[in-house]
Amino acid sequence: MDVSNAKFATKAVHAGQMPEEKTGALIAPLFMNSTYVWTSEKMERYLHGDKAGIFTYGRSRNPTQNDLQDKVKTLEGAEAALSTASGMAAIALAVMQAAHSGDHVIANKTVYGGTYALMTKIFEELKIEVTFVDDMKPATLDAALRPNTKVVYSETMANPTLSVANLTEIAQWAKAHKVTSIIDSTFTSPYLVRPLEFGIDVVVHSTTKYINGHGDIIGGIIAGSFEFVDAIRSSMYQELGPVPSPFSCWLQLRGLKTLHLRMKQHCANALALAQWLEKQDAVEKVIYPGLESHPDHELAKKQFGGLGYGGIVTFIMKGDDIESPKKVIDNCHLAKYCVSLGDLDTLIEQPATMTHGKIDREERYKMGVTDGMIRVSVGVEDIDDIIADFDHAFKALG
Ligand SMILES: *Cc1c(COP(=O)(O)O)cnc(C)c1O
Repeated sequence: MDVSNAKFATKAVHAGQMPEEKTGALIAPLFMNSTYVWTSEKMERYLHGDKAGIFTYGRSRNPTQNDLQDKVKTLEGAEAALSTASGMAAIALAVMQAAHSGDHVIANKTVYGGTYALMTKIFEELKIEVTFVDDMKPATLDAALRPNTKVVYSETMANPTLSVANLTEIAQWAKAHKVTSIIDSTFTSPYLVRPLEFGIDVVVHSTTKYINGHGDIIGGIIAGSFEFVDAIRSSMYQELGPVPSPFSCWLQLRGLKTLHLRMKQHCANALALAQWLEKQDAVEKVIYPGLESHPDHELAKKQFGGLGYGGIVTFIMKGDDIESPKKVIDNCHLAKYCVSLGDLDTLIEQPATMTHGKIDREERYKMGVTDGMIRVSVGVEDIDDIIADFDHAFKALG
């Protein structure tokens, strides 16, 4: 059933889902196979370019992976999507499709740690130059522009400072300068924002997070024009081989069916926790785009259509010392001390020692990641229990 014009929740449930032909099973079976049986007739058709419905080998296509790609394509409003083994694979492939040796990339200085490492270590070896900018305003991008600039890169919401990218401005700037705009929408998921609707060229996700949502797989996806996505699939994807397991795709398909329900609860719980944290003596500052105190509150409200502000809350302990976050984290019991985010479970971490631990202190402070900062990926448990957990941990500080 074509649900491309249906509302988001309907798409989340139905897109990419075709009852299986042989048995009528509503949920398509999981195709765990590497190869496919051929006939000479099929080979003839294939060689003459008629590849419709023909599967060859699991590194290029798999029916379960196709279903996932169809679902995400529909949710993002994209022409095509390509599922990868991890979020990092999706980011690397997308950027390397648009920028080659000798080219230049402009990226927000506050990006995911793995993306920062990719763009500093690996890209340096590949001779892809990267300029990290303080913000994504047109004047800042103008100043960083070079004749060989091919990509402008940002996250919808930066990690963990939660500054919100103005997608309209980035898309317009990229179009005016014939630069490919690539946006990591992991923190927002297509429930809150669909960057392609704003004119962004390519969206990437770590599906490990909200898209799958259950903390049981690692995955990524690229969505964009058919031309861009197919160029990756027919070349780098074949040669580098970052394919996901079909089982992982099957779990992501199941996870996506409740994306709208999960996101609604993540957003509501995060807002309630942020408002509670703001009132605590032990807390210096709370960073959450849903709070009026956040510099990007109005932009977030407009860009995310009033649906919410995401499930991540960051706060800084009074004194901003490196030790107090550890004490809080050790005294939380419901909130688990973990990296990653977007799970049903509340996860808590100290960016300075975990996600951003490899970045030197001065560089880290420039990114806005301070010693006394705690990042919470607010889960979908009952909010009263989540708040009670933090209340207990703050009381334990003495
Ligand atoms: C987790 C994450 C990634 C990397 O994804 P993996 O699935 O761990 O490879 C990239 N960007 C953001 C914003 C993330 O949170």
